[in-house]
Amino acid sequence: MEYKKSAKERFLDEYFGGVEDWDKHLADLITGDENAHLLETREKIMKEQEEFGNRTNFELGREMWYSNYFFINSLILNFITDAEGDPDLINELKKIYVGVLGNFGPDAVALNMDEEYDGYLIKMNADVDYQLTYISDLVSYHMYGMTLNDERERDNLIPKMWESLSDLVDKKALLKKLRENRQAPAPRQVDLESPRLHIATDLYVAGMSFVLGHEIGHHFLKHTESNRRNIVAKFMPPDGTFSQLHLDEFTADNFSFDLLIRGMKERNDLTLFAPSLIVILLLALYDKTPQEPSQTHPSLRDRYLNLLKRVSEQDEEVASKLQQIFNHVATWINVALGGHWKTEWWK
Ligand SMILES: [Zn+2]
Repeated sequence: MEYKKSAKERFLDEYFGGVEDWDKHLADLITGDENAHLLETREKIMKEQEEFGNRTNFELGREMWYSNYFFINSLILNFITDAEGDPDLINELKKIYVGVLGNFGPDAVALNMDEEYDGYLIKMNADVDYQLTYISDLVSYHMYGMTLNDERERDNLIPKMWESLSDLVDKKALLKKLRENRQAPAPRQVDLESPRLHIATDLYVAGMSFVLGHEIGHHFLKHTESNRRNIVAKFMPPDGTFSQLHLDEFTADNFSFDLLIRGMKERNDLTLFAPSLIVILLLALYDKTPQEPSQTHPSLRDRYLNLLKRVSEQDEEVASKLQQIFNHVATWINVALGGHWKTEWWK
């Protein structure tokens, strides 16, 4: 059999700025004279990854098979562990490579298959990771606030909500803040026991898993077979119903949702919430008309309603809780941004 290069090699061949180890790349950007503390933190993170890897990656530390980004590599390893008992799925999952690039914009793409290379390549901007962090923060303050009875305690969260919304929509302010943080001498104390932080972390992990699962879905459902999309494009009817591309998005969402459920050891509402409450809501921040479809994608409203249906198949009560939280957060965002959306598209 002829030797083919791997998806990882394809990523490094084709993408300018693609590096083999994203975390190390970030660590190398920090110099000691600029900020000794930040350097120390980065080194600590690398060491923690090494130890975590030794515990989970068969004693292989930061060895990365499935992505140049340690966290994503861990998530793919989770998918593989969760697929126990399904050798075909495991074999397919092992062909994935997720290449993270430093470009702006929350984009993730399952690349069309290339006959010269083996495996499934997914390309993702590091911005996906940052944006998912900020929106998980924003939603977690709301969800935590909804559990508080004391009005003053709730009001205390409002500045935090504004800050995470600003991180999402005001790039200039964010860059300024990051620059200031870079120079800040004292570490910010993070309360790891905070119930709010637990909500944010669970939402973030499930949100990122859902994004990955969606792109994996495009590959496994053969949406990326060479020519398939081109054929669709070529034979697109002039009046344009684009229905196949739209259908592909729903099936990729459903594939990813199934993958998430498969990984749940017990019912976890946050995992069920994350696809709509984190991913769809984030995409909607970039879309002035989430009720309208585009050429390639169904409307975010329809994707939200589909995911809501999937949650209600699991548990109707959780679905109605999701609807309530979604309405709460989306309404707040819309008012905060002075009518970002013209309609209450989530209703
Ligand atoms: Zn898609």
